[in-house]
Amino acid sequence: MMRETTDILISGGGVAGLTAAAAFGSAGFRVICVDPTAPVTQAEDAGADLRTTAFLQPSRRVLDDAGLWARLEPHAAALQVMRIVDAGGETTEARLTKEFDAADISDAPFGWNLPNWLLRREMMARIAELPNVSLRIGTGFARLLTRETEALATLTDGTTVSARLVIGADGRDSPVREALGIASRTFRYGQKALAFAVTHPLTHGNVSTEVHRSGGPFTLVPLPDRDGQPASAVVWMERGDEIARLSALPVLEFEAEMTTRSSGVLGPLTLASRRSVWPIISRIADRMSGQRAVLMAEAAHVVPPIGAQGLNMSLADLTCLLDLATKHREDPGLPAVTEAYHRRRHWEVQARVTGIDLLNRASMAGAQPLRDLRARALDLLYSARPVRQTLMRAGLGTGKTATAADA
Ligand SMILES: Cc1cc2nc3c(=O)[nH]c(=O)nc-3n(C[C@H](O)[C@H](O)[C@H](O)COP(=O)(O)OP(=O)(O)OC[C@H]3O[C@@H](n4cnc5c(N)ncnc54)[C@H](O)[C@@H]3O)c2cc1C
Repeated sequence: MMRETTDILISGGGVAGLTAAAAFGSAGFRVICVDPTAPVTQAEDAGADLRTTAFLQPSRRVLDDAGLWARLEPHAAALQVMRIVDAGGETTEARLTKEFDAADISDAPFGWNLPNWLLRREMMARIAELPNVSLRIGTGFARLLTRETEALATLTDGTTVSARLVIGADGRDSPVREALGIASRTFRYGQKALAFAVTHPLTHGNVSTEVHRSGGPFTLVPLPDRDGQPASAVVWMERGDEIARLSALPVLEFEAEMTTRSSGVLGPLTLASRRSVWPIISRIADRMSGQRAVLMAEAAHVVPPIGAQGLNMSLADLTCLLDLATKHREDPGLPAVTEAYHRRRHWEVQARVTGIDLLNRASMAGAQPLRDLRARALDLLYSARPVRQTLMRAGLGTGKTATAADA
C-alpha cells in the first residue's frame, strides 16, 4: 500500500476546497486535495453548477493571496447597491423599496458576482500552477486515524496519507465530520431554491435585488451582459412542491410567472439557462475541529442563500485557519491551530446561522399580518442611518468602514 506525507490533506474539491488548496499552496504548504467527483468547468456541460457566488468585500483578500483574484476579476459583476423590495401586499406590486448603497460605508462595492462553474475552471487552472499542490480527482477520503503527532487518512484508492492537518471541506454530509464523530444540528424549512440566469431589457445598474412576498426571497444578482443584453443570476426560494411545479413549467409560462414574482423590477425576464433545483436547510456542526483536523465551509455550516453568506462564511473560515497555520508553519495541525480555529470561528458561525434562519423565516411568511409586520420592520431598520450602516457592516462581516485599499 502506498504511503505519502504532506502538510495539509483537504477532503473535498468544491469551491471551498479548491480555494483552500490554492490558498495553502500559495502560502508554501504541501497540499493534497482529493475529490471523487470531477469538477464541471463548462456552463453547457451536464452537471454544471449554474449558481453564482457573490463574493463580499472581506473575501477578496484571501482570493488575492491565493493568486485567484486576478483570474476572476475580468469575469466579475460588481454589486454596488443591495435593494430590498417588499411585495407582500394583496397584489405582487412592490409596496416598499429600500436601497442599501455600499457608498454609505465604503469606497468599494459590497462584492462581486461570478458563476460557480467558472470559479471551478479558474481555480483548477491556478492549482495547476502550484507544484506543491496535488489535486487528486476521482479519489476520495475514506477513513481517518489521528494521533498527537499526525493524522493518517486512508483514501478510496488505498493510499495512506500522513498529514499534519486534515481539512474537511467535503460538503454538507461531510465524511471527515463523520470520521471525527462530530454531530450536527439541522433546521428544515420544506423549502427549495431554483437557480438560473435571465436577461432583461432594463439595466441592473450593479444593483442586487431581493423581492420578498411569501415562500422565500426572489433574488436577482447582477451578471456581466450576455450578447449585449443586461443579465442577472436568479435564486428563487419557495416551498418544495411549488418549486417542483415551477421547474416543470414550459418556458413561456415560467417567464410570465417569474416576471410577476420579480414585481417587474427589471422588466420582462427571459430565461437564459437551465433551471437547477437546490434543497434548502440550515445545519451547524457542534464543533469545528478535532484532533489534527478541522471542518470548514458546508462541512461545518449550511445556510439558506440569503445575503450571500454561505461561501463568504467559508472564506472567513479559511482566512482564520490560514492565519493560524502560518503562525505555526512547522506544524499546522497543533492544538494551537485547531482549537484556536474552533474558538474563533464557531461563535460567529452560530450567530450567522441563527440570523439567516430568522431572515429566511421572515421571508417565508404567508399570513398577511406577518407580511405587514415584516414590511414595517424593514422600514424602521432602514430609516435610522446608523442602524442601516451597522446592518450593512454586519452583512459584510466587517466591523469597520472598509476602503478600496482594504478590499
Ligand atoms: C441556490 C444557492 C445559491 C447560493 N449563492 C451563494 C452566494 O451568492 N454567495 C455565497 O457566499 N454562497 C452562496 N451559496 C452557498 C454556496 O454555494 C455554498 O456555500 C458552496 O457552494 C458550498 O461549497 P462547499 O465547497 O462547502 O461544498 P460542495 O460544493 O458541496 O463541495 C463538497 C465537495 O466534497 C466532495 N466530497 C464528497 N465526499 C467526499 C469524499 N469522501 N472525499 C473527498 N471529497 C468528497 C464532493 O464531491 C464535493 O465536490 C448558495 C447556495 C445555494 C444553494
